[in-house]
Amino acid sequence: MKKVLILGSTGSVGQSTLEVIKANNKDFSISGLVAKSNKKLLLEQANKFNVKKICLINNDSKNDIFVSESEIEDLIFSDQVDIVVAAISGIAGLKTILSSIKAGKRILIANKEPLVAAGQILMKEAKKSNSEIIPIDSEHCAIHQCLKNIEREDLNRIIITCSGGPFLRKKITNFNKITVEDALNHPVWKMGTKNLIDSASLMNKALEIIEAKWLFDLKSEQIDVIIHPQSIIHSMVETKDNSILSVMSEPDMKICIAYGLGFPRKIKSLSKPLSLIENNLLEFINIDQIDFPSIKFARDALISGGLMPTVLNAANEIAVKKFINNEIKFDLIFDTIKHVMEKFDKENSKIDPSLEQILEANEKARLFSLNYIKKI
Ligand code: MG
Repeated sequence: MKKVLILGSTGSVGQSTLEVIKANNKDFSISGLVAKSNKKLLLEQANKFNVKKICLINNDSKNDIFVSESEIEDLIFSDQVDIVVAAISGIAGLKTILSSIKAGKRILIANKEPLVAAGQILMKEAKKSNSEIIPIDSEHCAIHQCLKNIEREDLNRIIITCSGGPFLRKKITNFNKITVEDALNHPVWKMGTKNLIDSASLMNKALEIIEAKWLFDLKSEQIDVIIHPQSIIHSMVETKDNSILSVMSEPDMKICIAYGLGFPRKIKSLSKPLSLIENNLLEFINIDQIDFPSIKFARDALISGGLMPTVLNAANEIAVKKFINNEIKFDLIFDTIKHVMEKFDKENSKIDPSLEQILEANEKARLFSLNYIKKI
């Protein structure tokens, strides 16, 4: 029986994780649940799965049914946890992810921000502690699976697939006409708000390029992106002989969660089988067809290296938040990232930053972003 701690249990990945665990309840138990603010759902989950340790991060009530964040830290380092599922949106989850890695646990990482901002540190620590990092972002999960089946020297490149988001095939003449509602209207995937906006701006793919770089130790030129609107192929790996391996399935996060929980074995995912007849059209379109600057931002950040991925991520997080709150127009997401990256470039970024430097750059870039938006 594997003991699982879920960070972000009330979000979309957290809820799906509970469903997968329920379907495999002979093999997994839940040792703790952490949520940001959805108290009602957290209590329901604790009750349903008989979980003793639950933590509400934004806890204003003096209620002793909740444990503190430091008790969750202790839990991570105890033998009461084998697997940590990290699904807290944004860079907020970084600290607990780092603890889980230092504790040598298997960690399933759903949110890309911590890997983008501090990927080099997380991977270095994982090597030291023998912690197993399994990405459950669908693209990286597919690549992880493909890479397990080849010798590393035989790899040519990886190809990350991209649904294209809600604005593919819509000729957009004016980015600033895009509303929050338009952007949240994703054609294929069900996911959290931050992720949906990132998918609409393609910043999602920008973050995924950087995420892949750290996770799989690749050079920027070994990472390609292709638009595949049906989201049936979840990414690919090209080998030396020019054959391509891929993972195909229904676009359903539960498959990735089941992959990470069960690895290297396969467990029930509750996803329906993929019908090739119903999905008999698989298209691939050049990413250049979409006129967003996102992919270029990622490439630039990787060329600059050092703190620039952290800066890109911070600027994007702030801009997305402001867009969701209707405080800025859609195109200002791009303007903010561009401005903040340029501002940082001048100050130059460190080649091999420490965690402290990363956290500092994160705070600074957030401040720059807020100031820039305020001035507009
Ligand atoms: Mg993804």
